[in-house]
Order: sequence, then structure tokens, then C-alpha cells
Amino acid sequence: MYSFREIARLQEALRQEKTAGRRIGFVPTMGALHEGHLSLIRTAKAATDTVVCSIFVNPTQFNDPKDFEKYPITIKEDILKLTGVDTDILFLPSVAEMYPEGVNGQHPHYDFGYLETVLEGAYRPDHFQGVGIIVEKLLRAVQPDDLFMGQKDYQQCMIIKRLLEITQIPSELHICPTLREMDGLAMSSRNMRLDPPARQIATHISRSLNYVKENINSLPFPEIKQNANKQLQEAGYQVDYVEIADANDLRLLREPIKGKMVALAAAKLGEVRLIDNILIDQP
Ligand code: AMP
Repeated sequence: MYSFREIARLQEALRQEKTAGRRIGFVPTMGALHEGHLSLIRTAKAATDTVVCSIFVNPTQFNDPKDFEKYPITIKEDILKLTGVDTDILFLPSVAEMYPEGVNGQHPHYDFGYLETVLEGAYRPDHFQGVGIIVEKLLRAVQPDDLFMGQKDYQQCMIIKRLLEITQIPSELHICPTLREMDGLAMSSRNMRLDPPARQIATHISRSLNYVKENINSLPFPEIKQNANKQLQEAGYQVDYVEIADANDLRLLREPIKGKMVALAAAKLGEVRLIDNILIDQP
């Protein structure tokens, strides 16, 4: 695996790959890698010829400075894991490399419309602007044919779809399934911050989403959401939201629709905020 810290060096290497007619796959991450990340790399390896993984903890997407400070960094282990799945190129830039204009400098403002006003957008002001800023910079650096992201961050995938439209960047977005621990907890870098008692309780977030799915046709939505919320609170979570939305546009729903819905939840265990979602397909 080749590693680059500078965009110019990365692009030099990628030019050779592209000249040789190789298809470039890209998996952007913030590191503290787990099997969920590695599953994206494996999917990218199967679909493309040269796979680039980036590790960059992006300061502009953290609305909570404490969350940024405590974000786990495990570069040595990450490199071993990436080598283990035959990643071709690791891009490991510094903050100065990605933000020559300064983190607080002038950045584009994207019109994500409604998407930015609900769920994570409502609870994490400016988070998706920060995501847009860094993903555009990374895409312009790597210029991948294919971009691989996780359904775990469902709303983020929709934002990136919109970003590709806004910027007219011709990469194809592939949304990959969420990998889970044995007890159902969605894998996440933030899980490392859970102490053993919190880790035991953490499973309730996926349980509550399964409860929503199981009752989607039998109970009114306000009651389902209230019950799921209560289950999480009783388990020890501080709940931001449990919602049911149209999977196409994240419009919040009051009753079932035909086609795909998505149940989404965000809740905190102590200082650790977890999110999860589950697709509900109605034939
Ligand atoms: P992050 O490092 O948290 O920014 O995540 C990098 C990429 O990995 C994003 O596209 C995430 O959606 C994806 N990802 C995170 N957790 C999982 C998971 N449990 N399963 C599949 N993909 C994931």
C-alpha cells in the first residue's frame, strides 16, 4: 500500500493509474477503522481496479468541539487493517493540506435545502456544510470513478448525492449496507468510547429500530415513535429523535406509504452520541 500526505503526490500516482486505464474507487473515512469501513474497501476492491482510502478527521464537520477532541485516533492499527484488505493507496493529509485557506477561512456554502433542516441537520447545525466542504475537496483531489459510503450515515449519503449534483462531479455514489456487531449494534468508531456497561446498553438503539419496523403496519406512527423513544430512555439513553421517513427524500411520515421507508434514531449514552437507521420496504 502506498501512502501520501500531499495532494500533489497523490495525484501524481493516480495519473499513472488513470493513464493505464484503471478504474479508481474511493472510500473516505475519519479513521479508527472497524469492519464496517473494511467492508466498504472490500466492495470497492471488487468493483474497481485501484482503491484509495482517506483518513482525515475533518474539523469543520464537528459542531461539538468536545466530540472532535475525543474522536479516536488509531493510525498504526488503521494502517495494518488497510494493508490486510489490500488497499492500494492511503491518503493521510494534514489539516493544513486540506485547508490551506484555514479551517475558519472562506468555504463554499451548499444549498442542501430541506435535507439539511431535519434529523441530523436539526441537531448538528452546520455539520452537513462541513461534510460537503471536505468531501468536495477530497473528490477533487482523488477524482474517483466510484465513491463508496455507508448506509449507516443515511442522511449523509443523501447529502453527498446532492453534493454530486450541485458540483457536477462525475463520480458514482455506491451506498453499502451497515455492518453490525453480534448483538445488533451498528459498528462505529464512536463505540470505542463506550465503557463496558454503556456498551451493553448500546444494543437498544438497533432494538428500538427493529421495534419500529415490526410495528409499522399495526400501530399509529406517533405511538410507535413514543414507545421506541421510551424504550431507549428506560435503557439509559438520552434520545434526540426516533423518526420514520420516506427513504427517497427523508420527508417525515405520519402513516405508512407504499415503497421504501427508513426508521432513524439518534441518542446519547453519556457523552457518546450514536446514530442508526433501518430500511423498511413495503411491497
Ligand atoms: P466515518 O469514518 O465514520 O466517517 O465513516 C466512513 C465511512 O464508513 C462512511 O461512509 C460511513 O457511512 C461508513 N461506515 C461507518 N460505519 C459503518 C458500518 N457499521 N457499516 C458500513 N459502513 C460504515
